[in-house]
Amino acid sequence: MLSGSFASAGSESKRRRAVPLPKGIVAMQTFTPDSSVVSDVIPSPNFGERNKARQPDMIVLHYTGMPDVEGALTRLCKAGTEVSAHYVVLEDGRILQCVPESKRAWHAGVAHWAGEDDINSCSIGIEIINRGHDWGYPDYPLRQIAAVIALCRGIIIRRNVQPHRVLGHSDVAPARKKDPGEKFPWRALASSGVGHWVEPAPIDAGAVLRHGAEGEPVQVLQRALADYGYGIAINGKFDHATFEVVTAFQRHFRPEKVDGIADGSTLATLHALLGGLPVEVRTAAALG
Ligand SMILES: [Zn+2]
Repeated sequence: MLSGSFASAGSESKRRRAVPLPKGIVAMQTFTPDSSVVSDVIPSPNFGERNKARQPDMIVLHYTGMPDVEGALTRLCKAGTEVSAHYVVLEDGRILQCVPESKRAWHAGVAHWAGEDDINSCSIGIEIINRGHDWGYPDYPLRQIAAVIALCRGIIIRRNVQPHRVLGHSDVAPARKKDPGEKFPWRALASSGVGHWVEPAPIDAGAVLRHGAEGEPVQVLQRALADYGYGIAINGKFDHATFEVVTAFQRHFRPEKVDGIADGSTLATLHALLGGLPVEVRTAAALG
């Protein structure tokens, strides 16, 4: 809850803990951080080159989904885990960089967005320390969100990232991932110029498409989700994959009710978002 986050802000800031560096990580070769808001560099060996020298123009936000910070940092920075991210944002707002932005961090896994499958090559990955759905899913502290916003704003300016290309892991991998989840305050990010947001249409008893439905209305829904960027087959069948994409859409854009049912509010919110895409993106989607 936001009030709790406010209440604890003062006392905790007076006793800042050291970053719990995982053993064996500190001796590695370091690098100059890409962002002025980075407080520590903790290099990870888990990265490669961006394919075809692709310049990143997308930000993918994650939560770590692990019970403690040290375990999460070890996983991201230890050789052999094959997992990493460019940045990690701690609960107290400190920002660590683990992989240079020029390199391809391994954060998205099998993922898809707007016709691209190699999301790691086209994106900057940010891990936000949060235990996630499996470990109680606490609220994101305000200072942590403020840090995410500051970090993203810098990347957006340096990399010319468009608002609709600031996404959650669940958006690009809806069948596998829930992060950063429905508690992530996308509305607050958008009000600070980060990401694409429209106020969700009110939840009412409007038209409903659910698992098992078939026909043209389902096809129209799938087409709209695909036009926005989601990886979804347009087959006119509200199958399990469609349920997962609708669920991912709701986690991001209509977080008040995440049930995988395409109700009137979900559909209206989706169409409002589509209407807010840049003209060239909408044209490309219509042709594709
Ligand atoms: Zn993730």
